[in-house]
Amino acid sequence: MAGTMRAERFHADTKTIAVEDVPIPKPGPGEVLVKVEFCGICHSDLSLIDGTFPALLPVVTQGHEASGTIAKLGAGVTGWSEGDRVVPSAGRPCFACRNCRRGDLTNCLNIQLMAFAYDGAWAEYTVAQAGGLTRIPDNVSFEQAAILADAVSTPFGAVVRTGKVGVGETVGVWGVGGVGTHIVQLARLVGAVPVIAFDINPVVRERALELGADYAFDSRDEDLKEKVAEATGGRMLDVAFDAAGLKVTFEQALDCLTVGGRLVAVGLSAQEASVGTTAQFGLSQKQVLGHLGYKNVDIETLAELVSRGRLDLSRSISEIVPLEDVAKGIEKLENHEGNPIRILVKP
Ligand SMILES: [Zn+2]
Ligand SMILES: [Zn+2]
Repeated sequence: MAGTMRAERFHADTKTIAVEDVPIPKPGPGEVLVKVEFCGICHSDLSLIDGTFPALLPVVTQGHEASGTIAKLGAGVTGWSEGDRVVPSAGRPCFACRNCRRGDLTNCLNIQLMAFAYDGAWAEYTVAQAGGLTRIPDNVSFEQAAILADAVSTPFGAVVRTGKVGVGETVGVWGVGGVGTHIVQLARLVGAVPVIAFDINPVVRERALELGADYAFDSRDEDLKEKVAEATGGRMLDVAFDAAGLKVTFEQALDCLTVGGRLVAVGLSAQEASVGTTAQFGLSQKQVLGHLGYKNVDIETLAELVSRGRLDLSRSISEIVPLEDVAKGIEKLENHEGNPIRILVKP
């Protein structure tokens, strides 16, 4: 496959983006070329542009939540065919570090993140490791499949792996946007009760109730703790998820936990939060758990849940913008225009 394609390019020196003509990449050994159908716009893409995350390359194609079809197989790839519908993993292990050498690829010490360490999928084509591909079930749309690679799988990791939410546990979710919405849905799916959403935006709170939250409170409410106590029969929260990552949300979520409760920190910002005095923290036996990402196999689990109608992502795609208008989509997410859960780019 020769020739050129359209691709978004982030230029680190000027912190600007442009849609440009670039050569169609060639898949190396063990890799495949994927014709991109859709690719989501994530907050971490914004963080690269505004400098919150350091640039790893002088120029890179962004976008790491993609779906598409295999257009070409690299040397040595088996088990896949051209035309297969796939979700590429949003990262690739180095195969060289201590953990990779013992087969623990998920915990690679030098994991390379798609759209940061190598070119992503706001482009007509992207290259992916065959070992990181997930097959999309026939009845799952390319649109919904695209967001499985982060917007839904990071919440899955937070709820199932880090938070280990059990049946009947009381759960609170701070910030009910692209990530928090799916935490609400997955907490309900694994049997949490009640599930309480916290957000300052009334439109977002209403949506959270429609998507499965039992209660939705304004986090600025002065009587918030009383309301949480009332909603949980006096128990307070077993597990709190902070999807906003702000000092105020982190500390409020921690404060609403029961003795021995778990706070899962999902949202990332430059703000510093406190757990209070060491005495208070010890006596309360609360746990604070940092969370990042998911296992690649989680994408397949989620695809199965969507395929069998257990998880409804039909409201998760807020808008689709053509690749040429990717800047408009970025701006809308930045300004919370229309309170998007996920905006997709269509090459
Ligand atoms: Zn992301
Ligand atoms: Zn490694």
